[in-house]
Amino acid sequence: MMSLTEIRSRIDRAAQGAGRDAGKISLIAVSKMQPDDAVESVLAQGHRVFGENRVQEAAGKWPDFRKRFDGIELHLIGPLQTNKARQAMELAQAIHSLDRPKLAQTLARLSDEIGACPELFVQVNTGLEPQKAGILPADLDPFVAECRALSLPVVGLMCIPPVEEEAALHFALLARMAARNGLAGLSMGMSADFETAIALGATHVRVGSAIFGARHA
Ligand SMILES: *Cc1c(COP(=O)(O)O)cnc(C)c1O
Repeated sequence: MMSLTEIRSRIDRAAQGAGRDAGKISLIAVSKMQPDDAVESVLAQGHRVFGENRVQEAAGKWPDFRKRFDGIELHLIGPLQTNKARQAMELAQAIHSLDRPKLAQTLARLSDEIGACPELFVQVNTGLEPQKAGILPADLDPFVAECRALSLPVVGLMCIPPVEEEAALHFALLARMAARNGLAGLSMGMSADFETAIALGATHVRVGSAIFGARHA
């Protein structure tokens, strides 16, 4: 486990090495399954951007933190069931797991009702893993077009590379797919590989255990 300051300086160095502006890279502190006092300590250090996997867990802790800390930006990074979509839209400023047409249709209907929608990242199954969520690379371009036709605010792509493969190949593929679709956002890179992701263009890195330590089940 490293301090937030250490992670920030590693982000700065990685950005510098890639000739990029570190100020354009958002550090999402992934607080899923972490004790409240650990999250509170990161809030107290001035950090405001957090990621959660589950709507239920996010709903249990973030409304209280929001009462005590201004300017919290919450990113939902885990799989989203359609029956939790409304709650997710009310809680989060961004959803990184738009991974199927049915969810796109539900989000579009709800954003008409609510009058707002969080920023959306399309999750791509770059490793073609049968057990993993995400749009297959071959289906991505028509899916992005479908989301745009529904007026959804798609800002980028997200991926979780297969554990046993070279992450850089997946990050490079995701970057090419985003560029081809005119999308500026790239949500990629976790504790083990966020510097590689930054070198390949990540705009949002999702870092959990390197900030908070091992998760508590
Ligand atoms: C848990 C999780 C992370 C953070 O993982 P670490 O290895 O702890 O940094 C990032 N992205 C997603 C989608 C996650 O589920």
